[in-house]
Amino acid sequence: MAISSKSKGKKLPLKPKKIYRTNVILWRYFALFTFGIVAVISIVFYGFLSSTGLEGAERRVQSISSVIASKISEPDISEEQLQNIVYEYSLTEGVSTFIFDKDGKDIINIGQLSEETIGTIYASVNERAPEWKEGKVYDFFTQYDNRVAYNVVTCLTCKGQDVKLVVRYPVGPVAASVSRVELILVIIALSAVLVAFIVSYTLSKKLSSPLREIAATAKQLASGDYSVQFTSAQYAEIATLSDSLNYMKDEMKKSDDFKKELLANTTHDLKTPLTMIKAYASMIKEISGDDKVKREKHLQVIIDEADRLTGLVNDILNTSKISSNLHNLNKKVFNLTDLIYSVINKFSYLQDTQGYSIMVDVDPNMYTSGDEEKLYQVIYNLVSNAVNYTGEDKTVYVSLKYIPQSNLINFSVRDTGKGIDEEELAHIWDRYYRSKDSHTRPVKGTGLGLNIVKLIMESHKFSYGVNSKEGEGSTFYVNFPHVPSTPEE
Ligand code: ADP
Repeated sequence: MAISSKSKGKKLPLKPKKIYRTNVILWRYFALFTFGIVAVISIVFYGFLSSTGLEGAERRVQSISSVIASKISEPDISEEQLQNIVYEYSLTEGVSTFIFDKDGKDIINIGQLSEETIGTIYASVNERAPEWKEGKVYDFFTQYDNRVAYNVVTCLTCKGQDVKLVVRYPVGPVAASVSRVELILVIIALSAVLVAFIVSYTLSKKLSSPLREIAATAKQLASGDYSVQFTSAQYAEIATLSDSLNYMKDEMKKSDDFKKELLANTTHDLKTPLTMIKAYASMIKEISGDDKVKREKHLQVIIDEADRLTGLVNDILNTSKISSNLHNLNKKVFNLTDLIYSVINKFSYLQDTQGYSIMVDVDPNMYTSGDEEKLYQVIYNLVSNAVNYTGEDKTVYVSLKYIPQSNLINFSVRDTGKGIDEEELAHIWDRYYRSKDSHTRPVKGTGLGLNIVKLIMESHKFSYGVNSKEGEGSTFYVNFPHVPSTPEE
C-alpha cells in the first residue's frame, strides 16, 4: 500500500503510559523511602563500626603486641621484668600474653591457666603460625568456648631462644553486639516496610476516595444530568477542583439552557415570516393573481418577510461568529461616525413601521482604531437594547461626542425605559443573563448582547459602563480613543 507524504511525516503516537492505582504508587514511594532510610542507617552503622569497633580493636592489639615484642626482646631482660610486662598489659589493656618456646612451653606462665588450656592455645597458634622466622608477624581470629579472639603472633628472640609472642584479645562481645544490631536493623527494615504498606494503603484510600466520588459525579454529568453536585473534600486542591467542576457544570447548564431557548426563539422567529410568505403566496395564487395592484402589494409583503428572514439568519450567524472569535482583533483606523449611522439605519424599519424615534447627536468624522466589525456589534447591541427597553415614548437618544480633555470619543445611548435596579446592575454583563421581565420587544435578543459588549470592550481595553436608576431609563456608554483620520495626519 502506498504511503502518502502526509502520513509519512506524521508523528508516531507515544507509547501509552501505564496507569496505576494511587495506593500502588504511594506504596512504591513509601517503600523506596523506607529502604533509603534503612540503607542510610546501615551505612552509618557499619561506617561507625569499622572506625571504632573491630578494626579499632585490631589496630590496638597490633600496637600493644609490637610494644611488648620490643620490650621482651631486650637481651638482658630478667625473668621478673618479663613477668611484670605480661602482668601490666593484661591488667591495663585486657590482653592475654603468652611466650611460647620451640617445644610449646609458655616461658612466663604465671600459673593462671592449666597445662591443657596452654596446650590447646599453643596448638591453635602453631596451626595458624607454623613457621618461626625472626620478626615475622601473624594475625588471625580463633574461636574457643563459643568466643572469638583476635591473635597477633610475633616471632622473636627472647632470653636467647626463638619464641613466639602471642597477644590475644577477646572480641567475642563486640561480634555479638554487631550481630545483635544487625538483627535489630533487619527487624526495623521489615517493620518499616510493613508500616509503609499500611500507611500508604490507608492514605491512598483516604486521598483517592474524593477523586473516585468526583469521577462518578462527572460520569453522571456526562450522561446529561445537570442536577449533580461535586462534593468538596477537606483537601484544598480537591476542594478547588470540585469548585471548578461545579462552576463548569453551571456554565454547561446555562449554555445548554441557552441553546434550547435560542432554538425555541429562533424557530418561532423563523416560523412567523415563513407562515406569512406561504399565506401571501397562496393568496396570489388563488385571489390576487390577475389583479396587478393587489398582486404587487402581496408580492412586496413576501419580499419584506424574506428580507426579515435573511436579517434574522444573519444576526444569528453574526452573534455566534463574534462570540466564538472574540480574541482575534483585526485592528484598523475607521470612521466611527459612519459606523454609528449604519447601525441606526438598521433600525429604520422600526421607525417607519412601529413609530420608534432615534434622536441622533453625532459629531462628524470621528475616527478611532479597533476591530470595526466587532465594534459595530457593540453599538448594535447597545442600540438594540435601548430600543427594546425604552419607554412608552418609543424614543432612544444616541450621541457621539469628542472629549478634548481626555482625547476620547464618548458614545452613549439613552432610553426612557424602566431602568435597571441595583441588584440587576451587577448581573447584566454576565453571560446568559436575561431579564425575567417578559415584555414584548421589537428586536429579539440573544441573551448574550451585553456579555459580548463586555468581552469586546475588554479585549480592546476600552472603558464602558451604564448609568441607570429605576424608573428613569438607562444610559449605556463606551469610550473610544480618538485618532486622526489617517495615521499620517
Ligand atoms: P437580552 O437583551 O437579549 O436579554 P442582553 O445581554 O443584551 O440580553 O441584556 C441582558 C439584560 O440586561 C437584559 O435582559 C435586561 O434585563 C438588561 N438590560 C440591557 N439593556 C437594558 C436597557 N437599555 N434597559 C433596561 N435593561 C436593560
